[in-house]
Amino acid sequence: METAGAAGTHPLERLHRPVIFLGPPGAGKGTQAKELARCFGVPHLSTGDMLREHVSKGTPLGLEAEPVMKRGDLVPDSIILKMIADRIERADCSHGFVFDGFPRTVAQAQYLGELLKQHGFKQPLVMHMVIDPGLLLRRITGRRMCKVGGEIYNIYERPPKVAGHCDNDGGELEQRADDREEIVGPRLAAYEKQTAPLAAYYRRLGRLRDIDASKSVDEVAKLIVEVVSAARQP
Ligand SMILES: [Zn+2]
Repeated sequence: METAGAAGTHPLERLHRPVIFLGPPGAGKGTQAKELARCFGVPHLSTGDMLREHVSKGTPLGLEAEPVMKRGDLVPDSIILKMIADRIERADCSHGFVFDGFPRTVAQAQYLGELLKQHGFKQPLVMHMVIDPGLLLRRITGRRMCKVGGEIYNIYERPPKVAGHCDNDGGELEQRADDREEIVGPRLAAYEKQTAPLAAYYRRLGRLRDIDASKSVDEVAKLIVEVVSAARQP
């Protein structure tokens, strides 16, 4: 195994720890998690992707999870946690990794803390994507997609030149059913209720870092790299 400072590597290019993203749907969590993983050359671990991989390879965990997923039920912790334990043992995780969509509960977070200790990892740094609920609602409910080319607009933040039509091809713009306020409002409220204890848990441990997710994608990405770099210093 490579050690930090080996030929051709610079310590600043290493993440050296797990990073977790917490944030409501629409706050850019997935985008930023992928970007951070890319930036440091470490795996981006999404429980959804992992589950799909186990199912497609027909592993024992995949065979256990498949019927549950087919029923549309939530995959139980007994499967998720085994899958996480299995994944972080792989060599590509030795320099750190980025979680996207895990943990979701305090119980999962406690299990993860133990698991990381067992495997000699540092405790995670938690990026808490903070955004004003009103702004987030506008971001999601304002989203419109071109029926022809799939271009994404936002009627509040990035409106097309002609209302209802794509700048590129004049295609009709439509709102996804999931982006309607009556769907999004309750989803955000449910998220808030579910995540508040988890954020409080990591804040108590001193692991939580509030990230202003109202800024542009590039600005947020820069902020996150700064926070990760600051955490690495002694
Ligand atoms: Zn278009």
